[in-house]
Amino acid sequence: MNKKINKKIYQNKKTTITVNEDWCKACGICIHFCPKKVLVAGEKGFPVAENIDDCINCMLCELRCPDFAINVEKKEEKLSPNLEHKGLED
Ligand code: SF4
Ligand code: SF4
Repeated sequence: MNKKINKKIYQNKKTTITVNEDWCKACGICIHFCPKKVLVAGEKGFPVAENIDDCINCMLCELRCPDFAINVEKKEEKLSPNLEHKGLED
């Protein structure tokens, strides 16, 4: 039988933060170390990326988590179509 994985995904245009609630023990280390106060404790103590727009992709939460339960991914910035093929013009 397949066990459902309890992952919570928070994202905006720049960042995706994934919390694996199966591995998280709600210790609060990630919340404590986030310099931008992006993370807050949810109902069960699991981190919730309430202020994801303030995330600076510093990765401290991921690096400090002893259980590999939080993952931060920076989305690739796409150049606007106008800039992408801009060359020298006569
Ligand atoms: S540091 Fe890791 S285990 Fe602790 S609350 Fe954050 S995600 Fe969960
Ligand atoms: S990457 Fe840095 S700013 Fe973003 S949630 Fe993690 S600790 Fe906070």
